[in-house]
Amino acid sequence: MIEIKDLHKSYKMGSNSLHVLKGINFTAEAGELVAIMGSSGSGKSTLLNILGILDGADSGEYTLDGVPIEDLTETKAAQYRNKFLGFVFQSFNLINYKSALENVALPLYYQKVGRKERQEKALNYLDKVGLKEWASHLPSELSGGQKQRVAIARAMAAEPKVLLADEPTGALDSTTSYEVMALIQKINDEGNTILVVTHEEDIAHMCKRIVHLKDGVIVEDKKVKQVRAEQYV
Ligand code: ADP
Ligand code: MG
Repeated sequence: MIEIKDLHKSYKMGSNSLHVLKGINFTAEAGELVAIMGSSGSGKSTLLNILGILDGADSGEYTLDGVPIEDLTETKAAQYRNKFLGFVFQSFNLINYKSALENVALPLYYQKVGRKERQEKALNYLDKVGLKEWASHLPSELSGGQKQRVAIARAMAAEPKVLLADEPTGALDSTTSYEVMALIQKINDEGNTILVVTHEEDIAHMCKRIVHLKDGVIVEDKKVKQVRAEQYV
C-alpha cells in the first residue's frame, strides 16, 4: 500500500538547513496498523506529512497503492489526498461552527456526493463511533474524546486507502486515549490500513507493528503482540 525508498527531507532556515529525514525506507501492506514512534523532534510529523502529501520530500521515492507520488501540482495533490487519505490530528481540527454531522459530511461534499447520501453516510459513520445522538451538536459541546471520535468518523467517511493519525491521543487523558485506540483497533480489524504517530510506548503497543524513528532514521522496525485497548476503558 505504501512504499518509500531513501526519503530525505531538510528544512531551510535562512542560510542554515536542518536535515530531518535521513534516508527512510519503509513499506506498509494493506490492513496493517503501524505505530511510528519516536521522541519529540525525531521527524515523525515530517514523515507523516510527506506520506499524507501535505508536504514533499527533497529526494527519494514514494508510491501509494501503486501510484508514484512526486512533483504533483497542488491541485493533483489535493485530489490524491481526498481520494486516498484520511487524517486525524492531536488537536482534532474540527470546524467549530459546523455540527458533528456536518463535519463528518465534509469530505463527502468534496467528493461531490449528493446532499442526501452525504447526510446518510455521515450519520452512519457517527453511529459507528458511538455518537449518533450527538449529530446536531457543535464541537464545543463535545468532550475531547468525543471530538476525536468525530474526527475519526470524518476521516473514514471518505473511505480512504490509508488513515494517518498524528498523535491522536496526544491531547487526551489516559482512559480517553484508550477509548480512541479501541476505536482505531476496531477500524483496523475491519481491514483498514492505519499509521499512528505517537511518542508514547503504551499507545504504540496497541498497534501491530512499531517503527522506531530516531534522529531522522528508522532504528527499529518490529512486529508486536497487539495490546487490546478495550480492557483499559
Ligand atoms: P516530531 O513530530 O517527531 O516531534 P517533527 O517532524 O515535527 O518531529 O520535527 C522534526 C524536526 O524538524 C524538529 O527539530 C522541528 O523543530 C523541525 N521542523 C519541523 N517542521 C519544521 C518547519 N516547518 N520548518 C523548520 N523546521 C521544522
Ligand atoms: Mg509531531
